[in-house]
Amino acid sequence: MAKQEDKFKKVLSHAKEYGYVFQSSEIYDGLSAVYDYAQNGVELKKNIRDYWWKAMVQMHENIVGIDASILMHPTTWKASGHVDAFNDPLIDNKDSKKRYRADVLIEDYCAKIESKIEKEVKKAAKRFGDAFNKEEFLATNGRVLGYQEKINSILSRMGKSLENEDLADVKALIEELQIADPLTGSRNWTEVKQFNLMFGTKLGASADTAMDLYLRPETAQGIFVNFLNVQKTGRMKIPFGIAQTGKAFRNEIVARQFIFRMREFEQMEMQFFVKPGTQKEWYKKWKETRLQWHLSLGMGAENYRFHDHEKLAHYADAAADIEFKFPFGFKELEGIHSRTDFDLKAHEKFSGKKLQYFDHEENKNYVPYVVETSIGLDRMFLAVFSHSLQEEELENGTTRTVLKLPSVLAPVKAAILPLVKKDGLPEVARKILDDLKWDFNVAYDEKDAVGRRYRRQDANGTPFCITVDHDTLQDNTVTIRHRDTMKQQRVKISDLKEIIAKEVTVKNWLQKM
Ligand code: ATP
Repeated sequence: MAKQEDKFKKVLSHAKEYGYVFQSSEIYDGLSAVYDYAQNGVELKKNIRDYWWKAMVQMHENIVGIDASILMHPTTWKASGHVDAFNDPLIDNKDSKKRYRADVLIEDYCAKIESKIEKEVKKAAKRFGDAFNKEEFLATNGRVLGYQEKINSILSRMGKSLENEDLADVKALIEELQIADPLTGSRNWTEVKQFNLMFGTKLGASADTAMDLYLRPETAQGIFVNFLNVQKTGRMKIPFGIAQTGKAFRNEIVARQFIFRMREFEQMEMQFFVKPGTQKEWYKKWKETRLQWHLSLGMGAENYRFHDHEKLAHYADAAADIEFKFPFGFKELEGIHSRTDFDLKAHEKFSGKKLQYFDHEENKNYVPYVVETSIGLDRMFLAVFSHSLQEEELENGTTRTVLKLPSVLAPVKAAILPLVKKDGLPEVARKILDDLKWDFNVAYDEKDAVGRRYRRQDANGTPFCITVDHDTLQDNTVTIRHRDTMKQQRVKISDLKEIIAKEVTVKNWLQKM
């Protein structure tokens, strides 16, 4: 646990030190769970967004994008169910005065049991060596089965109680499990209450005529209300999708995990409209497609897993999360939801307008079903950043800090370094920079010894360093150094573009899907 916390602390300080993420309004001591992306962070975030947009929109003939407003007519949120049901169960500790999400306290309790299972697996793997079969062990070991049964029964009871709004039972469960305040150990809890997560605001100048609005808590509704506009003007045929990226706002009860849980964050969502009855098949397809997108970035299949929901949201007939192994354990990174025709039907009812599709093949109108994929851009940023931050022991006994970002996402693709600041080397380096910057985001760095510059670029996540030396003046060659292997090669200046492109272009990465 201490190791995990240590790693997470390093992630936070590295993100600040290398200009990735700053606390919002830091000079005023910050604003809780709100963050700003800095000079490198904004590039990484944009590259992740572009990687998603390319894969989801531009590579699919039947998916188009929109950019809907953050402010929407307030009835939207009545229809979607957010006014009545977008709540989290909160509980306060009477001694520490700290506030928690009751469901998260219970889930964290289960995660502890799960780590006991992992310990058993590790022990057995050591004992049995090559003969160890993990699946068989998980399915037959008595102790593991006991732990798993306990987790299942806790989560299923919590799911039922939340579904039935039986908050007294949620509290009873916390008491029975003797869950204590993680910060103080106190078990002196208040009742569990529901708390609506939407931020309210007002439209209009005078207090009595102003209209109450909400900042959107998800981007999806902007797509539903535009469904027919897009379908008609784009002459879209079912099945088809509408995608968008944009800000969403949630007044989260507990927000202590850096950019994992923010009050203002960005989502990348796609709603896929299908013929009723085919949703199960599309749900399966999108689950698989989205996992492949993640795997294409090469961050290790063992760091992802699906979590199928037992407790379904009011709109869904199936739902799963893609979980990623963050420094604080496996947590939700993306959700794939089969949302039925709930949203379109609700908007039909509240607006009095028809939101139906005329199917020429079937010669009839219907309200399409929807399968959605929804990923938090900031969470994806954290997944990529925390996974990439590594400390390596080198052969000479020193350690290097290296940010092994998938090079397609790296903010700066190459740094051009003149070996010395004289003899015409800076001029040649600048010429190379001016040429490469048409195609890639590149940087120039002439301060400090070249070894220190290499380390700086490693920590910054830059995949290539290009060094200009005196030989360059003679033969038009440079040294190119690779971040991950630290291998150096002598290459022609005229080959640089091709070498970098091979490593960083979206096409070469997405083709791994
Ligand atoms: P959680 O259970 O973690 O609160 P959720 O199930 O409410 O998440 P969804 O409503 O399914 O999340 O939103 C889709 C995605 O948006 C999530 O998978 C996550 O990546 C992202 N997301 C949701 N809430 C936040 C937040 N407060 N900060 C950052 N990203 C978020």
